[in-house]
Amino acid sequence: MSNIWDFANSQLKDLVAYEPGKPIDEVARERGLNPEDIIKMASNENPLGPSPKAQAAMTAACGDVHIYPDGGSYKLRNAIAQKFGLEMGNVILGSGSNEVIEFIGHAFLKAGDNIITAEHAFLVYKLMAKVFGSNTIEVPDPGYVHDLDAMAAAITPQTKEIFIANPNNPTGTLVTQEQIDRFMAKVPDHVVVVFDEAYYEFLDNPPDTLKYVREGRNVVVLRTFSKIQGLAGLRIGYGLASKELIEVLQRTRQPFNINSIAQAGALAGLLDDEHQAKTKRITDEGRSYLQTEFAHLGLEFIPSFANFVLVKVGDGNAVFKAMMDKGVIVRAMAAYKLPQWVRISIGTMPQNERCIAVLKEVLGK
Ligand SMILES: *Cc1c(COP(=O)(O)O)cnc(C)c1O
Repeated sequence: MSNIWDFANSQLKDLVAYEPGKPIDEVARERGLNPEDIIKMASNENPLGPSPKAQAAMTAACGDVHIYPDGGSYKLRNAIAQKFGLEMGNVILGSGSNEVIEFIGHAFLKAGDNIITAEHAFLVYKLMAKVFGSNTIEVPDPGYVHDLDAMAAAITPQTKEIFIANPNNPTGTLVTQEQIDRFMAKVPDHVVVVFDEAYYEFLDNPPDTLKYVREGRNVVVLRTFSKIQGLAGLRIGYGLASKELIEVLQRTRQPFNINSIAQAGALAGLLDDEHQAKTKRITDEGRSYLQTEFAHLGLEFIPSFANFVLVKVGDGNAVFKAMMDKGVIVRAMAAYKLPQWVRISIGTMPQNERCIAVLKEVLGK
């Protein structure tokens, strides 16, 4: 008998697949709980749900699903471009911004290359690099903040991509415009800089990275419909870059990667400023409530700029499991080299209150 690993790409052997937040139905099944009694605060989703306008647009799009989608996503790409003062040629859509990370890998990475991330960066960058046989240089992030000077200093001739998640997941920390500008002055042309801005819309004073796209630098800015838009299940996100760079990425994309319901829902959601403003408001309230409660409980936490908070609870995995037994799903962080921490996504105020009550019970406080 032959072994399949004699033929498969060898770098996949030690690749540990990404473990997503626990789905509500799975927790209900495993623990004999009623799904209605479970809350998920594990994947930074929008607790208000999708925009009602997006829901209406998706329902309307259902009648046309016998037709292939518009492979160029003309309306949605134009609407995104218009929103940021760019052109359609500056926009690429992915099945989640995660897929755009994969396009960038297909376009630039090969065996022996490297990418640079922060030590506690979003895991998908490293996993994708591995798929392409590339290495990941993880740069220490004192205080859990990306050290952009150290990241620039880590560049080698083999470096193809640098990822800066701003704010970062799972730490919720932000780098400033000044730090970004100093960094960009040092980055050579052979390196593509990816600013992953999945939580951009939650910021009060977001740094401007699109100026580097307009200047024609080798920069990709990633945004997503999964977070403030409340469309995580639809799988749609986008990259913004120079037309030349987008043209390269387009060659790696399957023609119908964005389905027609997602195109319709995302377009309506993009234009629904009211739903986004409401989501930001309850997120700001919830963040402030959770952080105040953590402080009262004497728990260390990292002040967050996003819709989640990282909090130090001792044995993160044990707390995650004990909270799950009581119907509150949070995220254990061992895979991020943070075994003492859990990440809690900000919910509605009743959800936040229940989460704190359950956390107190579990910690015996
Ligand atoms: C959630 C998240 C994404 C977006 O994922 P999608 O594939 O668009 O759902 C990307 N980057 C970071 C850092 C995230 O936290």
